[in-house]
Amino acid sequence: MIEKSLVLLKPDAVQRCIMGKVITRFEDAGLKIIGMKMVWVDEVFSKKHYKAHVDKPFYNGLEKFILSGPVVAMAVEGISAVETVRKIVGGTEPKSAQPGTIRGDFAHHSYHYTDARGVPIRNLIHASGNKKEADEEIKLWFKKNEMHTYNTVHDSHVL
Ligand code: AMP
Repeated sequence: MIEKSLVLLKPDAVQRCIMGKVITRFEDAGLKIIGMKMVWVDEVFSKKHYKAHVDKPFYNGLEKFILSGPVVAMAVEGISAVETVRKIVGGTEPKSAQPGTIRGDFAHHSYHYTDARGVPIRNLIHASGNKKEADEEIKLWFKKNEMHTYNTVHDSHVL
């Protein structure tokens, strides 16, 4: 039941200087950050991370976007962390993401707008889609010695 999930603050979140506000959303929900670093990825790494999307028409734009600046990678842990993180993040398209979610509150890009201009959708966050993906992604992004075990107040209040 306690799971880990990978969260990336994409270059738009970093460059808009809202890293703190976004990270607070996860901390406020009681999720534990057990790994965190800033990384500027290259084409090879992007293709590994987005292996499910490399053949899709939007991949080139997505790669250009993810390479456009550093990202913050976080491994977060909590009860049903994959589902909980995705709930906090909101739907992929910011325009239709629910208010109260990160994408709904901090962005409003739409597919209609980005498709017409051939630009990538700026949606601030990547969040693992399921537990298998989360385990693979955490292995890709973090070495064992970059992951940490420690107690937070939530260990006594929630777990
Ligand atoms: P996902 O693995 O479903 O989260 O998708 C990975 C990323 O690909 C999303 O966060 C978007 O940045 C991008 N993406 C997914 N679907 C589309 C789409 N239909 N058009 C453009 N970009 C997309």
